[in-house]
Amino acid sequence: MTVHTDAQPPSPAPGASVRPPRKARSNGQWSVDGQTPLNANEVFKQEGAPLDVRERIETVYATEGFESIDPDDLRGRFRWWGLYTQRKQGIDGGRTAQLDVAELEDHYFLQRIRLDGGSLSREQLRVIGRISNDFARGTADITDRQNIQLHWVRIEDVPELWRRLEEVGLTTIEGCGDTPRGFLVSPVAGIAKDEIIDPTPLAQAIRQTYLGDPELANLPRKFKTAISGSPALDVLHEINDISFVGVEHPELGAGYDLWVGGALSTAPRLGERLGVFVSPQDALEVWYGVIRIFRDYGYRRLRNKARLKFLMAEWGPQRFREVLQDEYLGRALPDGPAPAAPSGDSDHIGVHEQKDGRFWIGAKPPVGRLDGDTLLGLADLAESVGSDRVRTTPLQNLLLLDVPAERVEEAVAGLRELGLEPNPGNFQRNTLACTGLEFCKLAIVETKSLAAQVLAELDERLADTDLDRRVTMTINGCPNSCVRIQTADIGLKGQIITVDGEQMPGFQVHLGGGLATDGRPEAGLGRTVRGLKVPAKGLVDYVERLVRRYLDERHDEESFAQW
Ligand code: SF4
Repeated sequence: MTVHTDAQPPSPAPGASVRPPRKARSNGQWSVDGQTPLNANEVFKQEGAPLDVRERIETVYATEGFESIDPDDLRGRFRWWGLYTQRKQGIDGGRTAQLDVAELEDHYFLQRIRLDGGSLSREQLRVIGRISNDFARGTADITDRQNIQLHWVRIEDVPELWRRLEEVGLTTIEGCGDTPRGFLVSPVAGIAKDEIIDPTPLAQAIRQTYLGDPELANLPRKFKTAISGSPALDVLHEINDISFVGVEHPELGAGYDLWVGGALSTAPRLGERLGVFVSPQDALEVWYGVIRIFRDYGYRRLRNKARLKFLMAEWGPQRFREVLQDEYLGRALPDGPAPAAPSGDSDHIGVHEQKDGRFWIGAKPPVGRLDGDTLLGLADLAESVGSDRVRTTPLQNLLLLDVPAERVEEAVAGLRELGLEPNPGNFQRNTLACTGLEFCKLAIVETKSLAAQVLAELDERLADTDLDRRVTMTINGCPNSCVRIQTADIGLKGQIITVDGEQMPGFQVHLGGGLATDGRPEAGLGRTVRGLKVPAKGLVDYVERLVRRYLDERHDEESFAQW
C-alpha cells in the first residue's frame, strides 16, 4: 500500500475471529436504530457534508495556513479529498503509542491521487511527475490499491495541485474517508489474451455514476471494491468489501461471481461468495445495492467494528443475498459458478503479448517507490516506444502497455535504466512494504528503507538455491496490516521487541498465508508463530534460514504454504 492511515489503533486481538458487536445496545445501524450519531466521527459526518470541506480548503485554509484548520476538518473531513497529515520527522516508533495525534502529526500532508484501476496516460504521468517535483519533494509511492501517494504537501499548494490534476482528468475525491475508495481493477483489463470478461466498462460505470455521490459519502467506514476478469485472479478479491470475479456461466455467458465482506487489519476475515451470477448488465445495480446495504445496516457505534465484514459475520451469505435481492434489487439473481483455480502470473511482471499482438511489460519499482523524475522519464520512454498507457498494480508494480514487438527490447532497457526492473529476483519481486515510520503516524518500525536494504541481499544470498516458487513477504510497520500481514507466506508485523533486555524495532512473524492472487488455489490466513519475534537487524538471517529449511524439507512440489 500502502498506507493508510485512517487505519485504527488496534483493539481486537490480532487474528481474532470476527464477531459482530453484541446487541445489548444500539449498534448504530441506520435502518434498525435510526440515525442518531453514537460517536465523534458520526457526529462530524452529520454536522457537515465531508466533501464540502473542499471549499474551505480552497478559500480559507490554503490562504491562512495550517494553523487556521479546524481540527474536525484536519483529522476528519480532509480524508474525503485524500489528505492526511504525515508523521512528524524524528519521532521514534517506541513513542507512537505514548503521544497523541497532535504531537505525532506534521504540518505537511500525504496526498493520495485516486487512480481506479491504476490507469494513466503519458500526459497524466507527466502532470503527476511535475506535481511531485513542484509540491512533494519528488515523492511518489504506488499503493497496494493502485493509487499514487505524494508526501510533504503543504496546504497552501493543494488548490493548485488539484487544479493541475483535474485539468488532465485525475482526482483525489474520496481517496480516503468513509467512502467508496479507489477500485482495484485487473491491471491487464482489456488487453490480456486469456481474459474471461473485460471489467473496464463496469469500473467506469461505477466511477461515472457514483463517485462523489453525497448519498454514498457517509458510510460506516471505508468500502473497498475489486473487479477482475482475469483467470489469474489478480485483484485480491478475498479481502475487499465487494469483489466481482470474472466467470463463465454455462448458459448465461461471461459475467461475475460476487464476493462480499472481506477485510484484514486486526480482525481479518476473508470475503464470502453469495453464490449468485451477476451479468454485466446487472453489475452496476448490484454494486449499488451492496454499498447501500453497508450504508443502511453497517454498524456505526464502534469504528473498529464498522467494516462490512462484521455485518457479514452476523448475517452470513444466505441472509445477505436475501436482503440484497428482496430489499434492494426487487428480484432474484441466478445461481452462478465459483471462479476456477488461478492460472497465470498475477503480478504481470515481464514481457507478455496482448490480445492485439502488441506487448505489455511489467516492471518492479524498488519497494513500490517512484519519484517525480522517474515518472517524467517513464512518460518520455512511453512516447519513444509508441505507448500511451501505463498502469499500476495491486502488487505495487508498473505496466507499460501497447508496445509494438519491434520496440520491446528498447522498452525493457529503458525501464531498467529508470530503475524499474522487468526481471526482479524472488524477494524483490514478491515483497511488499507499507509506508512505515518515515511518514505514517501509527507506525512503530521502519519498513521501506529496511526492505530496500534486505531484499537485494536475500536474493543474492539465496542465488545458489533452487528456489523455483514465489515466496511472498510483507513488511508492515504496525498491526494495521496495510500490506497484509495475514495473507503472505511470511507476514511481518512491526513492533518494539526486547532482546537480551534491550528494546529494539522488530517483527512478530506470521507464516503460511496467501490469496488466489499469490497463486493459491484456496486463500488462507497465516498463523501467528507465538513468541517468534525477529529484530529488524536480524531479518535477512532469519528469512534466509527459513527459506533454506523449506527447500531442505519440502516434498516434491510442496509450496511454502503447504510445507
Ligand atoms: Fe499501515 Fe504501515 Fe502505517 Fe501501520 S505503519 S498504519 S501498517 S502504513
